[in-house]
Amino acid sequence: MDTKLEQKPLGLYIHIPFCHTKCTYCDFNTYTGLENLIDDFTESICNEIEFWSITDQYRINSIFIGGGTPSYIDVENLEKIINKINSNFKISKEIEITMEINPEDVTDKKALLWKNIGINRCSVGIQSLNDDELKIINRRHTANKAINSINILKKYFKNVSIDLIYGLPKQNLKSYVDTLEKIIKINPTHISAYSLQVEKGTYLNEQVFKNEVVVATDDISAEMYKKTQNILKKNNYKNYEISNWSKNGLLSEHNMKYWKLEPYIGIGPGAHSYLEKKRFSVIKSPKKYIQSIKKIKKNKIINIEEKIRFLKKNTFFEIYEEHNSKNEKLEFLMLSLRLEQGIDIKDFKQRFSQDFDELYLNKLKHYFKNNILEKNNGFYKLTKKGKLFANEVANNFVD
Ligand code: SF4
Repeated sequence: MDTKLEQKPLGLYIHIPFCHTKCTYCDFNTYTGLENLIDDFTESICNEIEFWSITDQYRINSIFIGGGTPSYIDVENLEKIINKINSNFKISKEIEITMEINPEDVTDKKALLWKNIGINRCSVGIQSLNDDELKIINRRHTANKAINSINILKKYFKNVSIDLIYGLPKQNLKSYVDTLEKIIKINPTHISAYSLQVEKGTYLNEQVFKNEVVVATDDISAEMYKKTQNILKKNNYKNYEISNWSKNGLLSEHNMKYWKLEPYIGIGPGAHSYLEKKRFSVIKSPKKYIQSIKKIKKNKIINIEEKIRFLKKNTFFEIYEEHNSKNEKLEFLMLSLRLEQGIDIKDFKQRFSQDFDELYLNKLKHYFKNNILEKNNGFYKLTKKGKLFANEVANNFVD
C-alpha cells in the first residue's frame, strides 16, 4: 500500500512578531524596537520546528509566514526557517508558501530573493490608496509606493494578494471606491477587505475615546462592503469567503484550512494551532518564547499527543482547549457560513452523526423567507444580502 496516500494535509503558520512601527489599529502580537532579538528568535523558531517534526501522519501543503512584518527581517533568516521546515516535514509538491509583505520593504532584489527561497504567494498590506488615510493610521508607505510594490511583485509572483481596510478615519465612500478602482487597475489575483475594528488597547481606541478621530458608522461600513461586493464582482473576482475575493480560482489555500476546520500548527510567539482536536496558542512575549524554547529544544518526542502534553506541562501555552463535539459543531457551522459554498449538509452529518435540518431548520425558517439564506445543491449558504447578517444567523447555532 502507498503510505503517502494516508498522510493528511497540514498547514504551518510561522509568526514573525517584528514591525518597524506600530499601526494605530493593530492589536496583533507584534513589537517595535526588538530588532536585536531577530537572530536568536530565528534560531528559536528553527528549534520549535524541529520539536514538531512530523514525517508520517501529515504532509505540509501550506505555509503562511505572517506577523508582524516578515518582509522586515533579512532573507537569510527566512531562508533558515524554510530550510528547517523542508528537513523536518514531508512537503506536498503543490505547496502554497505565502509571506506577508509591507510595501516599503519591496525592491526587485528582495522580490527575487523571496522567490528563490520558495515563497510563491505574497500577501501585501496595502490597506488604502489614499495618503491622508494611510498617514492617520501610521502606515509607513504612500499610495504610490504601494502601487509600485505590487507592480514589482507581479514580475516575480503569479499569485499576489492585497489587504484592504474599510471604515478608516478620514475615509468616505468616495475615497474608498477610489482605492478599489485603483486596486482593480493593478489587477491582483486576490483581495481581502476587512471592516476596521477598534480594538481595546490600541492607539486607535484611545484616539476614538478622546474624539481625536472618527471612524465609519456601521451603516457606512455596510455601504462600503456592498460597494466592494459589486465592484469586485463586476471585475471577475469571486467572493469565496465573506471578506475574501479571488480571480482564476487562486484562493488562499492556507486560510481555507481555518475556515474548514482542518489541522494546522502555529509556530512562534502567540501563534495558534488546531491539531488532533485541540486548540492551543503559544506564550506571546518574544523574550519569554526564546527562553522557553531552550527547555524544549533537546526533546525528540515522536508521538503528536505526547508532544502536545509535553508543551502543556512546560507552560509553553497561553491558551489550551480540548474540542468536544459541541464546540466543534458550533465552530464548523460558524466558519462554513463565512464561505461562499456555505454549510455542507452531508459533511455535517458525517462529522457529527446528526441531521442539520432536524436540528436547525425551524430556527432558520425566517432567514430563508427574507432572502438571507438559500439552499444550493446540498449546501445552505448566505445570499449576497445575507452576508451582512452572518453573525446574527450564526447565533442560532449556539445552544
Ligand atoms: S505592519 Fe501589520 S502587524 Fe505591524 S503594526 Fe502594522 S498592522 Fe500590525
